[in-house]
Amino acid sequence: MLAVRVLEKREAAVDVLSLVLTSVDGGSLPPYSAGAHIDIALPNGMVRQYSLCRADAGGGTYEVAILRDPAGRGGSACVHRDIKPGDTLTISHPRNLFPLVPASVSILFAGGIGITPILAMAEELHRQGRDFELHYCARSPERAAYRELLAQAPWSGQVRCYYDSEPDQVRFDARQILSGRDDGTHLYVCGPEGFIRHVRDAADQAGWSDARVHFEHFSASAAPVTEGDEFELVLARRGITVRVGAQTTA
Ligand SMILES: Cc1cc2nc3c(=O)[nH]c(=O)nc-3n(C[C@H](O)[C@H](O)[C@H](O)COP(=O)(O)OP(=O)(O)OC[C@H]3O[C@@H](n4cnc5c(N)ncnc54)[C@H](O)[C@@H]3O)c2cc1C
Repeated sequence: MLAVRVLEKREAAVDVLSLVLTSVDGGSLPPYSAGAHIDIALPNGMVRQYSLCRADAGGGTYEVAILRDPAGRGGSACVHRDIKPGDTLTISHPRNLFPLVPASVSILFAGGIGITPILAMAEELHRQGRDFELHYCARSPERAAYRELLAQAPWSGQVRCYYDSEPDQVRFDARQILSGRDDGTHLYVCGPEGFIRHVRDAADQAGWSDARVHFEHFSASAAPVTEGDEFELVLARRGITVRVGAQTTA
C-alpha cells in the first residue's frame, strides 16, 4: 500500500471532481500504464477503485476523477464530501486490467465518467505517435469531465464529442464508426453498462472479433448473489487458495 497526500481537489464537471495525489514524502510514485486503476481506502472505511486518468508523465502524481453516484453505497459521496486538500490517503499500487495493445489504429469510446482510463489512453497513444480517435458521449457539455482539456489537447482534431442535450449535432453511430476497419484496428470502451453493451453489439454487427474489443466495467451487477455453490478463490500473487462456502461471500 502507498501513503499519498491530496494535492488538489477540483470540480471537473457537474457531479465530478478530480483529485491530484502525491506521495507523502515528496518521492516518486510507482509508474503505471494507461488504463490502470488504484484502490483508494476512503475515510468512511470503504475501498473503491479509480482509474488513473492522465498518462504517466513521471511527474510523481496520480490524478483520478470521481462521479458522485446517488445510487451507490456511499463511497463516491464520501470522496465528494469528506476528502480535502492536505488529507493523507492509503492507496494500492496501480493495477492494469485494461491495457493498450499494439494496433494500427485504436478507437476509444467513452461514455460519461468512462472518460477516465480513455483520456490516459489518448495521451499515451499521442505520446507514442500512434494513430487513434476518441469518441466521447455525455449527457451535456457541463457533465463531460475534461471537456476543456480535450478541446485544447494537441490531438483535439482526433476527438469527437456527442451530447444528449444537443440533438441537432452529429449523432453517435457506433456501427458506422466501426464499419470498414482493417483487422489491425482495436477498440476500447468504458462507461455505463448500457453504453458498453451498445458499443459491443455494434462491433459484433460490424464483424469485429472479440479479441479486438477491449472494455472495462466500473460497477458490478446490483443484483445481490443470494445462493450459489461452494468454490475456491485463488489469490495467485499471494499463493493462497481460500475455500468460500455456499452461504459465505468472498
Ligand atoms: C476498475 C475500476 C475503475 C473505476 N474507475 C472509476 C473512475 O475513474 N471514476 C469513477 O467515478 N468511478 C470509477 N469506478 C467506480 C468506483 O469504484 C465506485 O464504484 C463508484 O465511485 C461508486 O461508488 P459508491 O460507493 O458511491 O457506489 P457503489 O456502492 O460502488 O455502487 C455503484 C453502483 O453499483 C450498484 N449497486 C448499488 N448497490 C449495490 C450492491 N449492494 N451491490 C452491488 N452493486 C450495487 C448501483 O448501480 C450503483 O450505482 C471504477 C470501478 C472499477 C472496478
